[in-house]
Amino acid sequence: MIYFDHAATSPLCASAREALIRWQELYFNSSSQYQAAMPVREAVESARADFARQLHSEAYEIYFTSGATESNNWAFFSALHQPRRPGKHILISSIEHPSVRECAFFYRRQGFELELIPVDTDGRIDLDFLRQHLRADTCLVSIMAVNNEVGTIQDLEAISEILRNSSALFHCDAVQAFPYIPLEMDRLAIDLLSLSAHKFNGPKGVGLLYMRESKRRELELPAMLYGGPQERERRAGTSPVPLVAAMAAALSEKLDKFSEDLAHLRVLSQALEAGLRDRFPDCRIHCRSEFRHPGHLNVSIPGLSGETALIALDMAGFCVSHGSACASGSLDPSPVLLAMGASRDEAQSSLRFSFGASNQLEEVDLLLTELENLRAWNL
Ligand code: PMP
Repeated sequence: MIYFDHAATSPLCASAREALIRWQELYFNSSSQYQAAMPVREAVESARADFARQLHSEAYEIYFTSGATESNNWAFFSALHQPRRPGKHILISSIEHPSVRECAFFYRRQGFELELIPVDTDGRIDLDFLRQHLRADTCLVSIMAVNNEVGTIQDLEAISEILRNSSALFHCDAVQAFPYIPLEMDRLAIDLLSLSAHKFNGPKGVGLLYMRESKRRELELPAMLYGGPQERERRAGTSPVPLVAAMAAALSEKLDKFSEDLAHLRVLSQALEAGLRDRFPDCRIHCRSEFRHPGHLNVSIPGLSGETALIALDMAGFCVSHGSACASGSLDPSPVLLAMGASRDEAQSSLRFSFGASNQLEEVDLLLTELENLRAWNL
């Protein structure tokens, strides 16, 4: 089996597996007051400190959640239910993940005014549109750091400059960016940021929301779950210590091999792009490499149907995606590709390949050969 679907989820790394077992065996509740529970509480706080350091933020600005879907929902909930909300206007990019897009559509049904920020053919948002459509009554702007279908990296610095003095909260879904793209909260104007462990070789079912403390205090941003005192009384529920500790272990393992892995992803991505252009000169790669995360490549090959190719590749032992895993099963063409100006045919024929450190160059060659066979068979 050759796995080219790391954007959907990534395999659990060795240190995360070890942490999962260790902290599952040390079963104490992190809120318990006796000494035996102390290491458990420390594991959670040490994980919080690790993520705060990585994000150039404070530990008390990190809230552990069940994953990025929850973090994204919380970001919307907190921005739109705060007592000092300046109005009912929301801006999101037109290529957001469903966990952001569907939140925005929900609030639109509740009477909020929603505008989608257009993107160019690389998936980069129109900064002038953002500048011109940002209003005094805009309460939330949500723009992802790296797109999950095509890998487009947004210019968070430029977006921060536009949003820095606005009354709107800036939420960023950084799931696909972390930890390869710098996300420094002391430099960027991001107020809310979502991460998910299973995208960087951690376990499923855990993530975090960064919430800027100055904004939280000033705007009295509401809690996600009411109940016990966990997560500073903002996200109640017994702390999933093994998951949190394993997420921190995954980060640590990633950082140890950071440069090496990043260079490897670049090699894989360049090899696949060169091979595709060579064998399929008529193919269209969605998003140029200079704007793309090296772990992602989305291509439309005329004459290949994405859905059929996916099944044929599966039978040949390759795990790839047609659109995102969260949208798969849907027969509609990807709204992300359509927003980027792709035709319906291109959107229907698109295939997403996403790499991880464990992929090998030879696997890229095997994939290219298989794609050539598929097109020769007219699949
Ligand atoms: N945002 C993006 C960009 C994603 O790729 C994903 C996962 N597909 C999510 C949010 C949702 O994350 P989770 O699986 O942790 O809920």
